[in-house]
Amino acid sequence: AAQEVSGAKGGRVQLSRLTKDYDGFRAVDDVTIDIAPGEFVTVLGPSGSGKTTVLMMIAGLVEPSAGAITIGGRDVTHLRPQHRNLGVVFQSYALFPHLTAAENIAFPLRMRRKDEAEIRRRVEEVLDLVRLPNVAQRLPGQLSGGQQQRIALARALVFDPPVLLLDEPLSALDKKLRENMQFEIRELHRNLGGTVINVTHDQTEALVMSDRVIIMRDGRVVQSGSPSELYEHPKSSFVADFLGTSNFLKGELELEEAQGADEWSLVTAGGLRCRVPEPVQGSKGRAHLMLRPERIVLNDSAATEERFEGRVAQIAYTGNIIRYRVALNDRDVIEVTLQNKPGHVPQVDIGSQVTVGWSLEDVHIFLESTIKQCV
Ligand code: ATP
Repeated sequence: AAQEVSGAKGGRVQLSRLTKDYDGFRAVDDVTIDIAPGEFVTVLGPSGSGKTTVLMMIAGLVEPSAGAITIGGRDVTHLRPQHRNLGVVFQSYALFPHLTAAENIAFPLRMRRKDEAEIRRRVEEVLDLVRLPNVAQRLPGQLSGGQQQRIALARALVFDPPVLLLDEPLSALDKKLRENMQFEIRELHRNLGGTVINVTHDQTEALVMSDRVIIMRDGRVVQSGSPSELYEHPKSSFVADFLGTSNFLKGELELEEAQGADEWSLVTAGGLRCRVPEPVQGSKGRAHLMLRPERIVLNDSAATEERFEGRVAQIAYTGNIIRYRVALNDRDVIEVTLQNKPGHVPQVDIGSQVTVGWSLEDVHIFLESTIKQCV
């Protein structure tokens, strides 16, 4: 559920049972989302999952087939885009090429018939805000891609919209600039306090920028929550796989009669018998066991409840992190990642025998019956 962000001055956005059909193809299917005033929400999903269509319906650029949209308590479902008072940064909403940066930014204020003095003051303010005070008189063609995206952002912010819509606003930037802009937009949001709805297929961007992430697949919302909730408690193997790196061991849940207490395990095709945590006990059938690679320890038997022997099949050095692929038998391979800290990285080579271990509380189980429901 949406939680109001303290001191927020943004608008509340409510999507209820929103659906969009294109010639019999359902691009958005019964989407209900409640976004609190001042919340920064990112809609994340693979290509074609319906993210942009949701945003276009909020913007008023695509007519919903069913459902309703309210902004600040007002039903805007059938209102024209210019009457919704939204700031919009879409790739398709490029800067006007024949207007200077300053004139581009001034445009929404001119549409709202503000006087010259106010326009000049506000344009200067937002140019400072996006840290580009010196390019005011340049044409878009004389700006770098990153500068153009900042000017587009300034144009969307200049009239202080209660709701800002962003559609892949950073996709044209190189990695370094994109990472900087993620923090800058977050900082801007903290200072300005409006509601932001962002769309991306970049999971890192979603995790870095958002209060809440909404994951879509095939036109539907499959899970929503804070970045840490989604990462730590994915409800499906789709979400686990989409956010971060996951190890999946596939097999059959089996009950073993032990002395005193019965014990449930997942038995893989490779013959691995892995114990499973309490909540899924009592279920039978095929399941996926998921472990995050950073939760697995290598050659450190002290702290783990579950341990297996394996052989190092690959080692990848990526600077801050070292990734090991460990074959536990001829079918089951898992990845272990270790921080590249002095004294922390074991001396192992490809082919070394190692022990991998984990705690039961880090084991996630997804039943295949529920996996099919999520497809
Ligand atoms: P991407 O990350 O690639 O932009 P997306 O999640 O934003 O993807 P949408 O652009 O919302 O996805 O598209 C959702 C589905 O609707 C896709 O299968 C797309 O082909 C289809 N679609 C989008 N616009 C139209 C249209 N005007 N006519 C027909 N089908 C459309």
